[in-house]
Amino acid sequence: MSSSTHGTEVAESATTEEVVAELRRRPAFMFASHVKPDGDTLGAGLALGLALKQIGKRVGYFQQDPVPRNLRFLPDSQFVTRQVPADLPADTLWVFCDMSDFTRAGEFLPSMRRENMLDIDHHLANSRFGKLNYILESEASTGTCVLRILRAMGITITPDIATCILTTIMTDTGAFMHTNTTSDVLRMSAEMIELGADKPLITEQIFANKRFAATKLVGMALSSARLEEDGRYCWTVVDEEMLAECQADGEDTEEIVQHLRAVEGVEAAALFKAYDGAVRVSLRSGGKINVQAAASSLGGGGHFMASGLTCAGTLEDALHHVYAALKAEGL
Ligand code: AMP
Ligand code: MN
Ligand code: MN
Repeated sequence: MSSSTHGTEVAESATTEEVVAELRRRPAFMFASHVKPDGDTLGAGLALGLALKQIGKRVGYFQQDPVPRNLRFLPDSQFVTRQVPADLPADTLWVFCDMSDFTRAGEFLPSMRRENMLDIDHHLANSRFGKLNYILESEASTGTCVLRILRAMGITITPDIATCILTTIMTDTGAFMHTNTTSDVLRMSAEMIELGADKPLITEQIFANKRFAATKLVGMALSSARLEEDGRYCWTVVDEEMLAECQADGEDTEEIVQHLRAVEGVEAAALFKAYDGAVRVSLRSGGKINVQAAASSLGGGGHFMASGLTCAGTLEDALHHVYAALKAEGL
C-alpha cells in the first residue's frame, strides 16, 4: 500500500484486485460525491452503485448539495440525498469518488472510521484518506477508474451504467476537447456507446440545455472580463448582484471560465465566484502553468489544467492571492 523511498513516504494506489476483493466482501455501500457536484463525482458513484446493486448489494448515495439541474437525467440520481439511513450495517463501505480529500464531501458527512472508507480518484495530490485508495492520476475521469473496477469484477455494463461512465468522461474532457482526451479515452467512449450509453442525451442535458439566465450571466461576466500580463491572464468575477440581475444561480456559472481560457494567448484563466459567503475560484491553464500547484498553495486542488479553491477573505484578497500564486507558477 505504501513504500518508503529514501526516507520519503510514497503512497501508492491500491491494486484493482484489492478493490474488487473489498467490494465483494462488504454487504452495503454508501457513495459520497463532492460539494458542488459535477458529472464525474456523481456519474462515477452511480455507475459503481448500479453495478453493485446488480450483484445484490445494498447501495445508497450521499451528497450534501442537491443534484444539479443538468445531471438529473442520470440513472439512479433520484436516490441521491443528504440523509444517511439510520439502519446502515456497521461494516458499510463508504466510497468517495472524485475528491482529493474526504472534507470535499462537505460538513454534513457523518464521521466514520478510516477502515470503512474507499477513495477512488484521479486528482493530483490526493491525501490517501481511505483504508484503500484507488488513485489513478493518469485517468481522464474517476468514472474511467470505476470502469477498470467493473471490468475486473466481470460486471455486465448495462446502458444505464454506460451512460453514467460516458457522462464522467464527457464532463472531465469538456466533451472531448481537453488534452486528457487520449485515444484510450475515445476507445472507452466508443465502447460505452456500443453498450447503449445515450450520448445525445448527455450532450443535450449537460452542454446544450442552458437556462436563458445562464446565457445572460455568461454575457455579463465576459463583458467585464480583464486581460492582463500582456494577454496571458484573463479573469472575471461573478457576484451576488450579477446573479440577482440575471435571475441566475451558482449552477449557471459553469461555462464562463472556459471562455476566458479560450482567448488566444491566455496561459491562465480565473473565475472568481463571490457569493454564498465565500469566494470560490475556478482556474484553468493554457498548458504551461500548473494551476493545481497554484490552487494547492492556497488550500485548494485539482489537476494541472483545471483546479479550484475557496478563499475565506474578501474578493480583493482573493484577486491578490490568486495572482501571486499564478505568478509563482510562471505566469
Ligand atoms: P471547477 O473549477 O469547480 O470545475 O474545479 C476544477 C477542478 O478543481 C476539479 O477537479 C475540482 O475537483 C477541483 N477543485 C475545485 N475546487 C476545489 C477545492 N476547493 N479544493 C480542492 N479541489 C477543488
Ligand atoms: Mn469533480
Ligand atoms: Mn474528475
